[in-house]
Amino acid sequence: MNAKQGMKRAEGLTIVVPVFNEAAGLAALHAKLMSLATRLRDQRGLKLEIVYVDDGSRDDSFAIARSLPADAADVQALSLSRNFGKEAALLAGLDHARMGAILFMDGDGQHPPELAEKLVALWQDEHYDVAYTAKAHREEEPVTRQLSAKIFYRVLNFNARQPIPEDAGDFRLLSPRAADALRQMPERNRFFKGLSSWIGFRQIRVPYEPAPRAHGASSWNIGALLGLSIEGLTAFSAAPLRIASLLGVLLSATAFLFGSWILFETIVLGRGVPGYPSVMVAIMVIGGVQLLVLGVMGEYIAKILSELKRRPSYFVAESELRELDSTKKPVSREAAE
Ligand code: UDP
Ligand code: MG
Repeated sequence: MNAKQGMKRAEGLTIVVPVFNEAAGLAALHAKLMSLATRLRDQRGLKLEIVYVDDGSRDDSFAIARSLPADAADVQALSLSRNFGKEAALLAGLDHARMGAILFMDGDGQHPPELAEKLVALWQDEHYDVAYTAKAHREEEPVTRQLSAKIFYRVLNFNARQPIPEDAGDFRLLSPRAADALRQMPERNRFFKGLSSWIGFRQIRVPYEPAPRAHGASSWNIGALLGLSIEGLTAFSAAPLRIASLLGVLLSATAFLFGSWILFETIVLGRGVPGYPSVMVAIMVIGGVQLLVLGVMGEYIAKILSELKRRPSYFVAESELRELDSTKKPVSREAAE
């Protein structure tokens, strides 16, 4: 992977598309991307490359991806050795991109290619380094989800020098220098929304309305969302640890006051301590809080461990590159009919 970091990249744009069980819509998406590539080439002379990263799909997404025609842009198809998760798929795309600028776009058709043109304009005409899209509003989501998102960003950005923008999606364009900065991040645990804001440079928010999923179902469930949230929190914020310490201080202070009062009652007022309920409450509160704080520390220790192991974030099982002018030199095309 390090060799790829030093690699010299061509002037142009690579669109990275993570693909997990998207066989049903891949061809339609590719057709749209090809017409986008044609427009960008005609209007701006911009060279395009599409990188499909198959994240261990169980359907024939990869077979489809590798047989898609390179009509208007270079096409790379990578398949990872198993399902590593979307963030790892994005990293694989970032590493294998052959053009300087990067556009991350979902493979389920929720990210409109038309908006991509606007992002390209912001980069090329107005020289922004990071153009990220964000959901214009969340009213249609359940209240509990809205609330948990609010709390998540509040804790995440607690005391942060470079706050991570709320509701930003993974649909974003990075200029060559921003993409390079992203590649220099040494950590294994990736939280791209956070990282691409953390690097700085000139950032701009583009509000948009995600299209409904064209087919299939979102692969995020409560567990996966919770996992990503913990991932984001522990990667970008020490606030949970700080909250834990504050809680400790608060409880100790209360315990001290309460203890003094009991002593006063026993010694000065001469009252026996009836005590059972209060003792039980104290034991339960302290026991609960200790477990909670231990759990929070455990999350950070788990993170330290996984960074220490320095395992690669993904393995590529197969890859295929089809260049735009491949009409001249035939490329291996076993998967074609
Ligand atoms: N994805 C992936 N690996 C996974 C899960 C999802 O590469 O383990 C891809 C998926 O194919 C899609 C994108 O990530 O292109 C977003 O996934 P999804 O639509 O399920 O998420 P949502 O749009 O609901 O956030
Ligand atoms: Mg989606």
